[in-house]
Amino acid sequence: MSKKYEMTIGGETVTADSYVDVRNPANTEEVVGQAPVGTKKHLDKAIAAAAKAYKSWRFSSEEERVNACNAIAGVCTEHADELAVLLTKEQGKPLGGIGSRFEMGGCAGWAGYTGSLSLPDKVIEDSDERHVIQKRVPLGVVGSITPWNWPLIIAIWHIVPGIRTGNTVVIKPSPFTPLSTLRMIELFNEVLPPGLVNVVSGGDELGAELTTHEGIDKIVFTGSIATGKKVMASAAEGVTPVTLELGGNDAGILLPGEDPAKFAEGLFFGSMINSGQTCGALKRLYVHEDDLDATVAALSGFAANIPMGDGMDEGSILGPLQNERQFKRVIELVEDAKANGGTCVTGGEPTGGPNYFYPVTFVTGISDGVRLVDEEQFGPVLPIITYTDIDDAIERANALDFGLDASVWGSDADECARVAARLEAGTVFINKHAEIQPHVPFGGIKCSGLGVEFAEEGLAAYTSIKIINAAA
Ligand code: NAD
Repeated sequence: MSKKYEMTIGGETVTADSYVDVRNPANTEEVVGQAPVGTKKHLDKAIAAAAKAYKSWRFSSEEERVNACNAIAGVCTEHADELAVLLTKEQGKPLGGIGSRFEMGGCAGWAGYTGSLSLPDKVIEDSDERHVIQKRVPLGVVGSITPWNWPLIIAIWHIVPGIRTGNTVVIKPSPFTPLSTLRMIELFNEVLPPGLVNVVSGGDELGAELTTHEGIDKIVFTGSIATGKKVMASAAEGVTPVTLELGGNDAGILLPGEDPAKFAEGLFFGSMINSGQTCGALKRLYVHEDDLDATVAALSGFAANIPMGDGMDEGSILGPLQNERQFKRVIELVEDAKANGGTCVTGGEPTGGPNYFYPVTFVTGISDGVRLVDEEQFGPVLPIITYTDIDDAIERANALDFGLDASVWGSDADECARVAARLEAGTVFINKHAEIQPHVPFGGIKCSGLGVEFAEEGLAAYTSIKIINAAA
């Protein structure tokens, strides 16, 4: 019998009427644990607990809030090994490399750094006529909904700025990777006041219940564009503020005449991080037609030395796709590319077995208009698309409704800067891709998101402005 994980509400363990098996994507015959199926009843209880805790937490001191963030960082450090193993088993990413231990390090780092930020009062006017102060005040109960690709660090991105600014939180993790979040929140509750952070697990319908619940004062959602649109529509009912971090289809442009070997490592990990299951991964690479062969050779040469395997094996650098839905989608997009003239210069077929492994696949011979280029693949598959004119490449990179990140690669700094200025995205990288840091605001434009996370700008998203305007 596999281990049962439980919800934590108001500082207490809460059981469910039913549980579902969570399987290991590297071996789907292995049940990692059982997740409670939370219902509206649990959600009501969690929101009530968060609302109760908010009554006092909204007036907590700066010191108490900083201490809470540091306590979270401490838990992430002390329990890093346990949580990393659970994360690897349910998510699939390797323990090493840019995998579970890396994610746990990020959780501790983000929690500590975010705790150190503040939004001090601003004196707007101090004159003979009036004294005006702008304050940042909390919003109330934050409803957090997370995806399955980076479940723990995304939970930290939602929870820590929330409590740092005096809010309380109810989080609903993805039904594909609930266990590590359930355990992490259980551990947080050993060091935080009850009700500050509550977790309910369940399916998509529970997410929808959360976004329409009248007890929720702010929604922070990370997931697909399709769901993000529904979340935004639900939020309209109560005029609830939302932060949306949605899907990306990031374009990268390699400037003409460059030596692709120089950029092979950055291009490879920029696209294959977490086996491509990263919102801000490079998902379309544009290269000059004269540089195609050299680019293919550089990238496939690099890929040949990167082992993909069971994440518990210390030698693995890349893991499987996380779930059957994603596995089938990647297969479908590659098959569609093949049917539209695409050639897989590496990979191109699943490796087989009771698992969701799909090999690193570089696809040439397709262009804009083919699904693998136009849609977010979210897997270890990269279309390499040719151009003849750099301005045309920029136009094609900007043509889609996505705008998370983009990148330009080249040795001419001025030309890189010129291209970067014209690429439409929340972040444009030069000679790198998919780098995020807690002091750098991050967010998408167009359909890739609304608002930013991280830094003071991200913190401000968990507050409203309150003006105190006194007669002099
Ligand atoms: P998803 O939208 O299917 O699910 C995300 C979460 O939303 C899950 O917890 C799910 O249960 C919940 N949900 C589903 N339907 C809902 C509804 N109607 N109302 C409320 N909640 C609902 O996304 P996913 O497949 O888990 O994640 C992959 C997607 O997330 C990709 O598109 C990826 O690019 C995106 N993502 C974006 C970022 C970012 O920061 N921009 C980060 C990570 C992932």
